[in-house]
Amino acid sequence: MATNALIYKKFRCIIGKANLFKRENGGNVMNVLVINCGSSSLKYQVLDMTGEKLLCKGLVERIGMEGSVINHTKIGMDKVSTVVPMNDHKDAIAQVLAAIQDPETGVVASLDEIGAVGHRVVHAGEKFADSVVIDDKVIAALEECVELAPLHNPPNLYGIAACQELMPNTPMVAVFDTAYHQTMPPKSYLYALPYEYYEKYGIRKYGFHGTSHKYVAQRAAAMMNVDINDLKIITCHLGNGASVSAIKHGRVIDTSMGFTPLQGLVMGTRCGDIDPAIVTYIRQKENLPQGKANEILNKKSGVLGISGVSSDFRDLEDAVAEGNERAALALEIFAQKVRFYIGAYIAEMNGVDAIVFTAGVGENDVNMRELICTDLGNLGIKLDIMRNKVRGKETFVNTEDSKVKLLLIPTNEELMIARDTFNLTKNL
Ligand code: ADP
Repeated sequence: MATNALIYKKFRCIIGKANLFKRENGGNVMNVLVINCGSSSLKYQVLDMTGEKLLCKGLVERIGMEGSVINHTKIGMDKVSTVVPMNDHKDAIAQVLAAIQDPETGVVASLDEIGAVGHRVVHAGEKFADSVVIDDKVIAALEECVELAPLHNPPNLYGIAACQELMPNTPMVAVFDTAYHQTMPPKSYLYALPYEYYEKYGIRKYGFHGTSHKYVAQRAAAMMNVDINDLKIITCHLGNGASVSAIKHGRVIDTSMGFTPLQGLVMGTRCGDIDPAIVTYIRQKENLPQGKANEILNKKSGVLGISGVSSDFRDLEDAVAEGNERAALALEIFAQKVRFYIGAYIAEMNGVDAIVFTAGVGENDVNMRELICTDLGNLGIKLDIMRNKVRGKETFVNTEDSKVKLLLIPTNEELMIARDTFNLTKNL
C-alpha cells in the first residue's frame, strides 16, 4: 500500500470516528466553503450561494514541510501570504478557518456563517454516482476506495476529518471526480482482461476530471441555448492532467482516463495510452523496481518525456520558437492524441454538435487549439483562426459555416462543488 494510504489509516485512529453533524445554526446559511486537499497543498474558496458569488480564495502550500505558507485573497483585495508552520492537514485547515475569519481580509465574522463545506474527493469507485452528504457510512465507503487512489484519496480524507473536528456542527458534502462518468456503459468501461479482475478488484475504467467535464458540458448547452439532452458534446479538459469525454444527451458514454488518471491523452508528465508490454520490457532492460516504473510513467513521461524540456506548454512553445524540434514533436504528438479521441468519440456518438476546450492548455493555448482543429473540415469542424486568438473567456471559436460548434469555456470545478454542496444541505 502506498505511504499516503498507510499514514491515512494512522491518522483516522487519532482523529477517531467521524462525527455526525448536528446543525445548530439554522438551515439557511448561504456561504459554502470549498476544500480541495492535496498531499502537500490545499486550495479553498468561500462562495455566497445567494448569487454564486466568490468571496475569497486561497492556496496552502508545503503542508508538513519547512516553509509552509498560506496565500489568501479576499476578492477585490491584494493577496496576503503568511509563512506559518503547518505540520499536517489539520493545521492547514485551522489556518484556512483563521484566514476566512480575519477581521480585515476575512469574509465571515464567525464559522456560524459557513453553512456547509464541500470537499473534492478524487475516487469514489462504483460507490457513488453523485455528490453525497458525508456521514460515517460515506467515510467508510471512501476508505474502501483508498486502494484505488492511494495518492489522492488519503489527503482528501484528511481534509474531511480535519474539518469535521474543527467544525463539528457543519454539514459536509463530498463531490467526486469519478461520479459524472458512472453513466458509462460496460462496453466503454470494461477492459479486455479476465472478467474476474473486475469482480475481485474493481479493475475497470473510472474516468476523472468529472466535475470539470460536467461543468463545461452544462455551460456549452447554456451558451448554445439548446437542452443538453438534445446534444452530443465532446469535452476536452487539457491541463497538466488531460482527458476527453463523450457526452451524449447529458450522459458520459466514454472518457479517455481509465482505472487511474494515467490512461488516455499524452499529458504534461504522464504517458497516456501505451502498449502495456512496454512496461515489462523497460523494467527488465533498466532493472527497475515497480515504484520507479510508476514514477517514470507518471512523472517523467508525457510532453516532458518527449521534449526533454518541460511539462509546461508555455516553455515548450518558447523552445519551439528557438528551433527545438523535440519540443515541436511533443506538441504535435499531444495534438494528435486529442484528435484521435475526438474522432473516436464522433464514431461512438454517431456525430457531434459541440467540442469544448477547457483547463490550462485548452483555455489559454491558442496554438494548441489550432493544431488540434486543423484539417477536420470533412467532419464539419472548422476553427475560426481570428476568433481563436483569445484566452480564458467563454466564447465560440468556430467559423460561421462550421457544422460543429467549437467552444472555449474556463472550467470552474469549485463552483460545481459549491452548487452540489449547497443543494444537498440547504434543507437540512
Ligand atoms: P492542473 O490543474 O492539471 O495542474 P491546469 O489546468 O492548471 O493544470 O493547467 C496547467 C497547464 O496549463 C500548465 O502546465 C501549462 O502547460 C498550461 N498553460 C497555462 N497557461 C498557458 C498559456 N498561456 N499558454 C499555454 N499553456 C498554458
